[in-house]
Parts: sequence; structure tokens; C-alpha cells
Amino acid sequence: MTTGPISGALACRTLITLDADSGYGRIDDAVLAWDNGLLTHVGPRASAPTSVLQRLQPDAFFDGLVTPALVDCHTHLVFAGNRAAEFELRLQGASYEDIARAGGGILSTVRAVRDASEDALLDASLPRARALVADGVATLEIKSGYGLDLDSERRMLRVARRIGDTLGITVRTTFLGAHALPPEFAGDAEGYVDAAMGWLQVLHAEGLVDAVDAFCEGIGFSPAQTRRMFEAARALGVPVKLHADQLSNLGGAALVGEFDGLSGDHIEHTDEAGVIAMKRAGTVAVLLPGAFHVLRETVLPPLDLLRSHGVPMAIATDCNPGTSPLLSLRQAMQLACTHFRLTPEEALRGATVHAARALGLTDRGVLRPGLRADFARWSVSEPAELAYWLGGSPCAGVHSGGHPVA
Ligand code: FE
Repeated sequence: MTTGPISGALACRTLITLDADSGYGRIDDAVLAWDNGLLTHVGPRASAPTSVLQRLQPDAFFDGLVTPALVDCHTHLVFAGNRAAEFELRLQGASYEDIARAGGGILSTVRAVRDASEDALLDASLPRARALVADGVATLEIKSGYGLDLDSERRMLRVARRIGDTLGITVRTTFLGAHALPPEFAGDAEGYVDAAMGWLQVLHAEGLVDAVDAFCEGIGFSPAQTRRMFEAARALGVPVKLHADQLSNLGGAALVGEFDGLSGDHIEHTDEAGVIAMKRAGTVAVLLPGAFHVLRETVLPPLDLLRSHGVPMAIATDCNPGTSPLLSLRQAMQLACTHFRLTPEEALRGATVHAARALGLTDRGVLRPGLRADFARWSVSEPAELAYWLGGSPCAGVHSGGHPVA
């Protein structure tokens, strides 16, 4: 656990608060102050009260940009091994689905995770979490789904919690038992869903589950099976989200909307009925341009429909060993602008306030008195630069709840 003062003050050249429905909420020559992990003052230096100015240390001027800390609302970053060999196969023409049907893909990572102890899994996963934090992230969602048996799913979720404790950041866990069918249930998806619903109850009782997700896809689980998982979640009062309509339109966005889900993720093949269902339920659209990029997809998410219906768009890394070995959320913002034509402002909102909402968190994602002192410092001049640079990192530091964590 990183420790440090939970009260402090900082002056900076430019503050990006995002504290408005549109625009960056830009304040030049600004001051930020926090107490006990919560922001107490956000505004121009010229109008800051003396009590705040007196708290500024002589070296407390940052000659750059300060934004809300980034929120990565969709990752699978706890895993063992890697799938570089599969990457090579795909470059030779094999498709993601071909590899999955041949027993590779997700199931090859399942084998590696089942063979890994909890400590080995933590050692393998921590550097990935550190990389995300070093590029601005202070809140991270982590899914299970590479264990596919009770003990291995538990191990993954425990490692996710330990990552949060070790790095001093917020980690939200998601049970993704319905990710793939393990070999011991071959031909019996219904029986597997029954088993996974039982594990959900156990793991939830152990305090390891903040949300429930499923992979609703031809190579994953059907809408009817997904619905059963969602009903199990609802019975426990656990919110749901969904890998929806990534490779085909099975009506996943409409289904997650029907369950008042936190988010519908991927949604490349979602139609207008799905978008309307998400809007009605307040479900966030989570765009995952890393997977789109790596799989060389061509069908874009329904961006115009999302905008015209006013569905908030978040961006996440989808960090996983198969389709998105992506270790920077800022890089995901770059890919979202390049592939999906998001504006840099949409990308920043997508990686902060909308991503927080996709996790059901209303205490972060903008800089406003009363909210968490989760902020990132960047050595750039303009906010658009955050979605502009490829590689490297302009991140000069990250605070979580007033603590420096990077
Ligand atoms: Fe994913």
C-alpha cells in the first residue's frame, strides 16, 4: 500500500475539471486543495481563499495540466502467460473464432491460470496494473473469467483485490464466470451456467464480487444463458454489465439494458433498438478500441446513434492477453479517436467521468469539491495531447484519494 499525505494543495498551469456537461472545464493558473482524501477547493488561484494559498508549499506549482485521474472500467488484467503465438497465427490468416473453436484462445489462458498459484498470478499481473497507473489510472476494473472453476475464479478475484491494496488504488471486481465453456463441461453449457451461478453466490458472500459480466456471443454464451446469470446477479443485488454484440448482434445491448445494467461493452454490432434500451436504462456504452484494433475489425460501434440518443460513451483498455494486450488507457483514447473518430474531449470524458459511471461510481471522474482527490498530472500543454501521443507517457504523477500512487 502506497502511503502519503491525504491532505494537500497544488497549483498548476492548467486544470481540466470536466465539471460541466460539455467542454473541458478549463481553468488556467488554478489551485486544487484536498483534505482527508476529498477535494475541498478547485478554482483559479486569483479567487482562492488565503487559507488555501497558505497551504501551498513553495514547490507546489506544477507547470502542466491536471485532470481527473483516469478510470479503466473494463480489463481482464489478471492472467498468466501470454498469447503472442496466437497473435502470429492470426497474422497468418487464422481468425479469433477459429482459434477459440480449436481449444486455444481464452481456454489457453485458462490452462495457464489454473496452473498458477495466487502469488504467481499476482506477480504476473502487478506490472500490468502498475503500467496503467503510471499512465494516469487510479480506478481499475478487473474481471475474473480465466479460471472457470470455483477455486481459480476465487484466486483471480483475490489477486484483483490484492492489486488494489498493493498499489493504493481503487479496484472494482467483476465475476465473469460466463466467459468460455471449460473442457470439463464440454457440450453442457446449461450445466456450466448452473455451476457458475452457484460460484457467484459463494464468491459474493466472500466479498469478492462487485459486478457480474458475461460474454454473450456465438463463441460465448447465448442470450438465454446470459439472462440466467443476470437473474442470479439480480437476486443478490449485484449490478450487471455485458460483453455485448462484439462479433455479431445477438441483442446483447438490449438485454443488458433490460437488466438496468451498468454498461454494454464493445457493442460494435448493436442496432438502434439496443441503443434505445441502453438509453432508457442509463446504461453506459463502453468502447474498446484496443480489441477493435488488434482484431482488425471493420464494423464500427453505432457512434452516431449513441450520440443522437445521448448514451454516455466510456473508453477502456480491455487489457487481456488475446484481443487487447494494451497497457495504457491513454493509448486506448488515441485509438478511440483514430478508429472511432471520437473527439479528444469525448475520449477524455470517456476515460474519466463516463468510465466512473460505468462502474456505478459518482464520487470521481470530475474535479469538484466534495469528490475524491483522484487526479493526474501531465507534462503537456493542451488536453488534446492526451489523446494524441502514441507511446511514451507524459504522465507526471497520479493521486488516489489524496495519496500519491505514481
Ligand atoms: Fe473484455
